[in-house]
Amino acid sequence: MATPLPPVVADAGGSDRTRLERIADPLVTDNEELCADSVGILKRPDPAKPKSPRAQCKLTFRLVPRAGVGAAADGNQILLSTGLLAFVRDDDELATVMAHRMAHLLLERPAPQAFLTRLGSTIGRSGERAPEPVFDPAQERAADRVSLFLLARAGRDPAAAVRFWRRMASLPPDASDWLLRHPVPAERIDAMAAIATEIAMLRAAGQPLHP
Ligand SMILES: [Zn+2]
Repeated sequence: MATPLPPVVADAGGSDRTRLERIADPLVTDNEELCADSVGILKRPDPAKPKSPRAQCKLTFRLVPRAGVGAAADGNQILLSTGLLAFVRDDDELATVMAHRMAHLLLERPAPQAFLTRLGSTIGRSGERAPEPVFDPAQERAADRVSLFLLARAGRDPAAAVRFWRRMASLPPDASDWLLRHPVPAERIDAMAAIATEIAMLRAAGQPLHP
């Protein structure tokens, strides 16, 4: 008897589960190069292609019954509050938060893989894991970049993330406990807009989307 595979989405039911799976599945699929040396990879049967299991990042999005707007990581789990699901306006906004958290998880590992180390050295971060909820501007910049590529690779428009963070920046500082730990200064949003443009150019040129 094979060990059951960990679920992509946990502790969510009904329409929440359907929604989270719809967003999570493309985020965790076909990202071996990003996940292999961080959270790890597992092979999951693909009902559409029984003979070629799909590679999936080994992480779980867990819904936590909590009113605040929250997103956090615990080991290979990304915790999302029910308050967050109520706060986001659409799937693109929810995908933006999920991709951002996932990017932190991929980046802030004790032994980041080569491309993550390169990315870190170009933007001034070391690759060491920092305990939450310490806010580190360099880690945020790194997570922003990787998250926009994760969104694009999942078939979403990274410009939606720029719109989301612009909206977050316009909220009063006490509007969200999570936002307090994720300051979104104008230069961070400008940098994301530049990354979204870079991704659009890569796509137009048919280039691979490597962060
Ligand atoms: Zn962050």
